[in-house]
Amino acid sequence: MLRRALLAAAASDQIRGLLTGTQAARAIVARYVAGDNASDAVRVARDLRAAGLLVTLDYLGEDTTDALRAAAVAAEYVTLLEKLHAEGLTADGAVEVSVKPTAVGLLLSPGGANGVAPRSIIRPPRGVPDEEPSVSGLQESESGEKIARENIERIAAAADSAGTTVTIDAEDHRTTDASLRIAARLRERYPGVGSVVQASLRRTETDVRALAAPGTDGAPRVRLCKGAYNEPVSEAFTDAHEIDKSFARCLRVLMEGPGYPMIATHAPRLVRIAAALGLSREPGSFEYQMLYGIRSDEQARLAASGARVRVYVPYGGDWYGYLVRRLAERPASLGLLLRSLYPLGGT
Ligand SMILES: Cc1cc2nc3c(=O)[nH]c(=O)nc-3n(C[C@H](O)[C@H](O)[C@H](O)COP(=O)(O)OP(=O)(O)OC[C@H]3O[C@@H](n4cnc5c(N)ncnc54)[C@H](O)[C@@H]3O)c2cc1C
Repeated sequence: MLRRALLAAAASDQIRGLLTGTQAARAIVARYVAGDNASDAVRVARDLRAAGLLVTLDYLGEDTTDALRAAAVAAEYVTLLEKLHAEGLTADGAVEVSVKPTAVGLLLSPGGANGVAPRSIIRPPRGVPDEEPSVSGLQESESGEKIARENIERIAAAADSAGTTVTIDAEDHRTTDASLRIAARLRERYPGVGSVVQASLRRTETDVRALAAPGTDGAPRVRLCKGAYNEPVSEAFTDAHEIDKSFARCLRVLMEGPGYPMIATHAPRLVRIAAALGLSREPGSFEYQMLYGIRSDEQARLAASGARVRVYVPYGGDWYGYLVRRLAERPASLGLLLRSLYPLGGT
């Protein structure tokens, strides 16, 4: 109930304006986000590499509503990859990048106009029917998908030249088909392009079986996470225990398959299950992934044990959506932040 109220409040434009201007938000952002620009991202990547961790960098932004902006996001990634390469950070994929399809044009329609209503950053809480305008046209809208694919292809080409690769982040369920299609198509040329699947979606066990089937799509890199978006019950499990069970089932399928699983969770029990399943795999044939600023001690512990551990590091000025998703996973922090705006008993 509290989480629902907090999410609803955070969705308002007024709250967005207030939050993004506060010192309290800035302090929390500094925990989760590397900084505003590519130099900040490179600096943090360098520090994490020095600590024996792998890195994936995310240029913050999503739901891009014009084609020029989508192209600019792709150009930012290309420049970032050049900087990383110049510093020797990309060798053997040590530092790679993560890209959101809606940041590079997935929601655009012909002519570059915004054909579908941009999704609000905060969806209704899990299990609440989604009342936003349907974007079912997304599947038919060749153009947004084509723009996103072409932009991600530019990034994949730059990554390939730098000796590294790209992972295509997962967003809400309405983008899943297009995102998986884009990744499969790009893997024909750049086999290292990674997909992301979300254990909270009911469809994901079927998706991972397809991704893990020998010969269907090579042996792809697949990140498994729980899913950070609020989805309708028709599409997603809403109970935390059901999501954990789905994660464990999907994890087993990926770990028994020929691909390269990327296990993205901070949950100790799921990490333990992954470690147990990993005993029957070749060393170095899978990796753990965690977010910058969350369970850093566990990241270090796993790396010290010899495991491959990658830290997901976001950077850029458009941090509101990312921050709110992190805070929604910790409603106590979001409550504190909102209370700093409206102190009880204050003047
Ligand atoms: C590397 C990586 C990439 C991801 N990519 C995507 C993606 O492409 N698409 C997508 O939808 N989601 C993505 N996510 C987010 C993911 O779906 C979850 O929302 C998020 O990881 C929380 O789930 P959890 O598995 O860590 O479990 P939880 O049960 O949420 O957390 C387990 C424990 O981790 C700690 N923790 C978790 N979150 C926080 C927090 N915000 N602040 C402080 N401590 C915390 C707490 O100790 C908590 O008890 C990604 C996550 C990671 C780690």
